[in-house]
Amino acid sequence: MTLPTVDQIQQALAQVMDPELGRSIVELGMVRDIQIQEGEVAITLVLTTPACPLRNQIKAQVEAAAEAVPGVKNVSVELGAMSDEERRRALSSKSPASQLNKIGRVVAVISGKGGVGKSSVTALLAASLQRQGYSVGVLDADLTGPSIPRLFGITGPVQGVPLGILPVETRTGIKVISTNLMLPDENMAITWRGSIMSRAIRQFWEDVLWGSLDYLLVDLPPGTSDATLTVMQSLPLDGIVLVTMPQRLATMVVRKTVDMACNMQVPIFGIVENMAYYPCLESGVKHEIFGQSHADEVAQAAGAPILGRLPIDPDLAALGDSGEIEHYEPVEFVQLVEAFTAAVSVLDPASLEPEAAD
Ligand code: ADP
Repeated sequence: MTLPTVDQIQQALAQVMDPELGRSIVELGMVRDIQIQEGEVAITLVLTTPACPLRNQIKAQVEAAAEAVPGVKNVSVELGAMSDEERRRALSSKSPASQLNKIGRVVAVISGKGGVGKSSVTALLAASLQRQGYSVGVLDADLTGPSIPRLFGITGPVQGVPLGILPVETRTGIKVISTNLMLPDENMAITWRGSIMSRAIRQFWEDVLWGSLDYLLVDLPPGTSDATLTVMQSLPLDGIVLVTMPQRLATMVVRKTVDMACNMQVPIFGIVENMAYYPCLESGVKHEIFGQSHADEVAQAAGAPILGRLPIDPDLAALGDSGEIEHYEPVEFVQLVEAFTAAVSVLDPASLEPEAAD
């Protein structure tokens, strides 16, 4: 009987696709090692993340593919996780747009529950970074509840060119992509299932001509949904910012998000507590309208610093409603952005400096 070769096993495994990324596990560099002895095949497989929810599915497909090679008596699969560098390489895409894009840091903004001001914080963070001289993009991954275009007062439709999709620019030059910039009417509902959502998010990453960006902020839907999983698993995220507010419920659900980020080994850069208090202009007293702060507890659970506590400010709501959020420059945000860039710079202190103004 002929004995199987490493090449034959490799060819068989090339047919196995990563269900999330839609590419062959061999092409993605997930097959780290193949050993064969007398028809006994031992495969070492490295996943993009150790907590990959599809690990058993991928393992079963690898076993079946290798067992189908003539002469194979037994297959054992050992699972491991990619290094950061391997992961970055695997998740970089060969699409024409991503070959041209040069993106510094990819940071997701996430909250446990809706309505805590996550999109407002994403937009304000983008605007503040842009003001400081960084080039910034916002990928609105909240596909079914996109509010980023409205906050910046921008509308579609986005333009398609042979190399990819052009994002829409805000008045200060922040590049934005969102499903709302693709719909003929912003009130149209999107009723996509999980797998289509995942593909759309991948497409926003791969097929959009972002150009050269210091920061790409990804506005995630609230909670631990499919879209969140896709972003954590298939975008080369550097880390996340967690937005919460003082309510007990918000604190409880944000902990689930912390748990998910820890499982997926995505660093948490810090916590933003929004609507933390209402400052009385006359007395200077800070009224805790939504209750006492739990930011310390969340920060402790996340093992991350509090980047800032933002007040309730009707001006913010009004400017957001009128699409002029870039005009909002609260003092609290100056420190918040400093804390944010400091947290990010720990990754590689020399890598990101804003370009000097001309
Ligand atoms: P999320 O993205 O978490 O659903 P949004 O950013 O859409 O939340 O904010 C929900 C609503 O709360 C919006 O109307 C927004 O203008 C308002 N809002 C957010 N943060 C503040 C704040 N600090 N003060 C006053 N209103 C706020």
